Order: sequence, then C-alpha cells, then structure tokens
Amino acid sequence: MTLKPKSPPSKSHGRLSIRASAQPRDLMGDRPDIKGAWKAKIITLFPQAFPGVLGQSLTGRALDQGLWALDPIDLRPFGIGKHKNVDDTPAGGGAGMVLRADVVDAALRRAAEGTPPSRTDWPVVYLSPRGRPFDQATARRWAKADGLTMLCGRFEGVDQRVLDHHRIEEVSLGDFVLTGGEIAAQAMIDATVRLLPGVLGNEASTEEESHSNGLLEHPQYTRPADWQGRAIPEVLLSGNHGKIEQWRREMSEELTRERRPDLWKTFAKAQGLDSDTE
Ligand code: SAH
Repeated sequence: MTLKPKSPPSKSHGRLSIRASAQPRDLMGDRPDIKGAWKAKIITLFPQAFPGVLGQSLTGRALDQGLWALDPIDLRPFGIGKHKNVDDTPAGGGAGMVLRADVVDAALRRAAEGTPPSRTDWPVVYLSPRGRPFDQATARRWAKADGLTMLCGRFEGVDQRVLDHHRIEEVSLGDFVLTGGEIAAQAMIDATVRLLPGVLGNEASTEEESHSNGLLEHPQYTRPADWQGRAIPEVLLSGNHGKIEQWRREMSEELTRERRPDLWKTFAKAQGLDSDTE
C-alpha cells in the first residue's frame, strides 16, 4: 500500500510525517498522515466510535485522501490504578460520576504535544450542553485553524478545574442533553471539515447554503417535473437565470422570515431593512 495521497491537501506541503503518538496506527486504518493537514484530536472513552459517520461520503473520501486527519485519544489508559478509573463521585454529593481533573489533564497534555499553544491556531473544546451554541461562524473559525482538540464528556461531565486550567472553550450542539460528547464532536467536525478546501466537489455550494449569508436556503427541486400532481415552480424551468436568482432570493428571505424571526432580525438589521415590515 502506498502512503502517497491521491491529491495534496491545501495547507500541506505534501509531506508525510512520522506519527509520534502512542495511538495504535491500525485504529484509524492505513490512511495517509499528511503533514499540515487539518487535524481533529478527540479525547474520548470510546475511540472506536470514530470516524463513525465521518468515515462515509465526502468527509470519508477526504479523510482517505489525507485532506484532514483524525486522532482519537483513548481516555482510559490515563485512568488511575489497576482499574484505570477515570471518574469519581461528585464533591458535595448527588447522582452520577464526574471525570477526574488529573486524568483529563494527562490526556489534554498528551493531545497538546506537537500542537500550537495559541487557541486561535488550535482551539481546545469541551463539548457541553452549557457551552455557547455551535453555529456556522464557529465552523468557519475552526476551519481556519490548523486543527483542534475536542474533549468528549460522559456521565455528569468533567471536573471544572481542568476546564479552567486549560482555557477550554465550551461549545454545545444544542439545548438538549446527550449521554456523551462523541455525537456532538462528529456533528461539529462534519460541519467544519466540509469547509476545508477540496472537501466538497462544488466549492460554491458553501457560499449559497443556509446560514452562510444569514439566510436559510431556498427550496430545492429535481426530476420528475411533475410528481403526485405537484409541479416544479415554473420559473426554475424557464432558463432565465436572472429570474431564477431573484426567485431563490425571495424564497430564501420569506423562509427565513417565517421560520427564523431571530435570524431575520439580524439579517434585516445588517441590510439596513426594517425587520417588522420587510
Ligand atoms: N450534567 C451535565 C450533562 C452531562 S451529559 C449538565 O447537566 O450540564 C454527558 C456529556 O455529554 C457531557 O459531559 C458532554 O460532553 C456531552 N453532552 C451532552 N449534551 C451535550 C450537548 N448538547 N452538546 C455537546 N455535548 C453534550
């Protein structure tokens, strides 16, 4: 098997690097390890959950090509004693278990090896329902970094001291509670990786889609032209690109106004429109 990538990643100089981590290489298969490719290091008790759905379709192909890389770091070996305990009961009592500061710290220090200390170049993130809600702007910011480290919590979460000590950014997938951070990590990595150059076939599609310009996307249609008595809006079949563009824009604004008054308000303000009447 050759380690040469099928096509070079944008940020890389196309050089393969020697992996210094203790991570068993076979965990991620024989994917090319490209120096300079955007990388996600994931601290998790379930490293086998990765790449998960990220191994499919466009993100999977890009992973195989070395356009980005994934480095799951198993939290368990950093555990204490014969049983490699990673958690303990909450101080002050209450239900459940909390991931220990010393154990998580050891994993974070391992993850920090070989990464830039600047949080701009390399964000360090704890997936948490208490965090700032993840959005497209966050994905864009992360895609501009060299990579990031994500800490997936389990049980009741993580000892607060280790979060403070490592200047960790808390980010939430939404206002609901998951059993662990892994699904949130995969969702956020997916949104970030698809913004890396070369990952999507059609680069323009990230400029016009929902949330990229503050609006939701217009409805999409494809064949058959007539389905169950429902026709495709005529303008889309007219071949008049000016009109099509205008229709899409109007639909986009209408959908946003109806479904997401919060987004519409921000958009209208930025455009100098009156959000109540427009
Ligand atoms: N007791 C915590 C919830 C713990 S849920 C609280 O009430 O805030 C267990 C783990 O799942 C968390 O440590 C976190 O890593 C992950 N998680 C749960 N909900 C999440 C969400 N909405 N976004 C991101 N991560 C989440």
